[in-house]
Amino acid sequence: MTHAVRTTCPYCGVGCGVLAAPDGTLKGDPAHPANRGRLCVKGAALGETLSEAGRLLHPTVAGARASWDAALDLVAARFRATIAEHGPDSVAFYVSGQCLTEDYYVANKLMKGFIGSGNIDTNSRLCMASSVAGHSRAFGADVVPGVYEDLEEADLVVLVGSNLAWCHPVLHGRLQAARAARGTQLVVIDPRGTASADGAELHLPLLPGSDVALFAGLLVHLDEAGALDAAWIAAHAEGFEAALAAARETAPNLFRVAALTGLALEEIRRFYALFAATERSVTVYSQGVNQSAAGTDKVNAILNCHLATGRIGRPGMGPFSVTGQPNAMGGREVGGLANQLAAHMRFDMPGALDRLRRFWGAPNLATRPGLKAVELFEAVREGRVKALWIMATNPADSLPRAGRVREALAACPFVVVSDCWETDTTRLAHVVLPAAAWGEKGGTVTNSERRISRQRPFRAPPGEARPDWWMLAELGRRLGWAEAFAWDGPAAIFREHAALSGFENGGERVFDISAMAGLDEAGYEAMQPFRWPLPAGATAEGGRLFAQGGFPTPDGRARFVATPFRGLAVAPDAEYPLLLNTGRLRDQWHTMTRTGQVPRLAQHSPVPAAGFAPGDAARLGLAAGGLVRLASPHGETVLRVAIEPGQRPGEVFVPMHWTDDFTSSGPVDRLVGAATDPVSGQPELKATPVRAEPL
Ligand code: SF4
Repeated sequence: MTHAVRTTCPYCGVGCGVLAAPDGTLKGDPAHPANRGRLCVKGAALGETLSEAGRLLHPTVAGARASWDAALDLVAARFRATIAEHGPDSVAFYVSGQCLTEDYYVANKLMKGFIGSGNIDTNSRLCMASSVAGHSRAFGADVVPGVYEDLEEADLVVLVGSNLAWCHPVLHGRLQAARAARGTQLVVIDPRGTASADGAELHLPLLPGSDVALFAGLLVHLDEAGALDAAWIAAHAEGFEAALAAARETAPNLFRVAALTGLALEEIRRFYALFAATERSVTVYSQGVNQSAAGTDKVNAILNCHLATGRIGRPGMGPFSVTGQPNAMGGREVGGLANQLAAHMRFDMPGALDRLRRFWGAPNLATRPGLKAVELFEAVREGRVKALWIMATNPADSLPRAGRVREALAACPFVVVSDCWETDTTRLAHVVLPAAAWGEKGGTVTNSERRISRQRPFRAPPGEARPDWWMLAELGRRLGWAEAFAWDGPAAIFREHAALSGFENGGERVFDISAMAGLDEAGYEAMQPFRWPLPAGATAEGGRLFAQGGFPTPDGRARFVATPFRGLAVAPDAEYPLLLNTGRLRDQWHTMTRTGQVPRLAQHSPVPAAGFAPGDAARLGLAAGGLVRLASPHGETVLRVAIEPGQRPGEVFVPMHWTDDFTSSGPVDRLVGAATDPVSGQPELKATPVRAEPL
């Protein structure tokens, strides 16, 4: 390597550019529009995660080293035999927002187009499936209408269920700089007083799960305060009266909103008045909204308020979903979720199945959605799914009822795991395939503002590690579809993906990057970050969307969605009186396979701790630094006690990162229950009733 390689951070959905210099140092890419040279502490420590220690180097079968050919032949034979005996829905892929778009594209094409099952889902189901569903209901497609500059051009930013300061630090830095420059007001809606609430004009510590009531009340207030944009609604949207009627049912007055949310009347009044009076308003939402059994309704309750005020797609205005993973958006673009098809097509979209069948020459195209993550692992447990390939994710630690997931994997007749490091999931696999990691393979990722950036290799993979797309293509070839899986590299896959996005796209799919379909190798290598849509003939990257309507619905109009309020899926009771909230820490990532290698990242929070409100700790006899046993109906764990003044009474916060590899406490997700959103299938990861006992 004689020059710096431009690549993209593999951690969060901000999608920061990284420069890998020839001397091995890494720094922020000043030319990347997402971060303009900045990196957060995790991104800045990427260079310390490149050790080959602990990497998976060779394929293994039943724990013994095997050649690639032997391992892949076995995978093909077991998948072929399982499909022949039990049908295509007896096999499944479970993939990851860590996959590059090219990996995702091949996995989705193989499972949905050729094996003939919808059973490919992704850990993005745990991350943003509710936003996908909410966007689709309101806009007709899964589209984030805004751009990052909106956070800098707004006069009011509302963070809902988002600890932006810790989970999307560089974007938070851009917001903070804008606040200093123009006095942007900040409202944080979160049961916890997080770092993001520091310095906010208003922090609303609402009751967990009550967001729909708060935003229903806001819609009613906007109507009563004369703050609606009636002309915009009349020109561009449907269903306002029904949505308003449902909102009135939930929130007929402020007293009712206060009762449902646990907020003080004055707090609610201030928020509503601020939102009504501030045209340039952006509402940013993340896992506190998505990871909920009412997640999709929460998203639509927020979208309703932006549609009602016409605050969408204009500078400094709009709803803004921020994704947790580096390529959660890219996975959505290629149909990585079980209920999606490639290129933002849907199973229920007229002509989509026929179009896809012809484009791929697909012999067995799936015609109905597959199993979503939580139900997929239940199907494994019940023996309905008998062969499973897990890719770049660790469900034995990260899925709800993680102990039950481990039982399911242990009982599954055939489990393949491709990953870079050994995890609790690889330990349960029959075949383990060593994957090339960040910096060792090329492809693309899409960040939270629809910006597609290249990840580029700058070092060779260790041992026999190979990219995931290659392994999947090898399986496709072995199953008899050599021509359809004959790519010679990620550029060829990207070209096909880009061509599909424009194939017979009469504008009903906003996702269109067909201007990139003709890229040759050199063009792919030189690709600059760009925002979609970028249809054939486009001369500029995609910008803000929907200010003048043009939604990808049959009539071009957005939909208000009535969102009746529902309480928590499982409420606290006398036996389990506290609510467990799980989430991220500032300096760790997922189940720590990468960040756990960096000692200085552990300094911020060296051990997993359960965070209690001071009053709860006193009542329960818990002392800071002491031990507490947390138990739910699904499992228990022992953790250090932290007293957190920002914690809402009645709740306990536990970080999601630690696994058996890093602590005897094990993964906290084994305590989390099975409740999911009925529309999106996203699990309720932030509100599990538990009890706490001092040890
Ligand atoms: Fe990486 Fe996200 Fe940090 Fe940017 S903000 S450096 S993408 S972890």
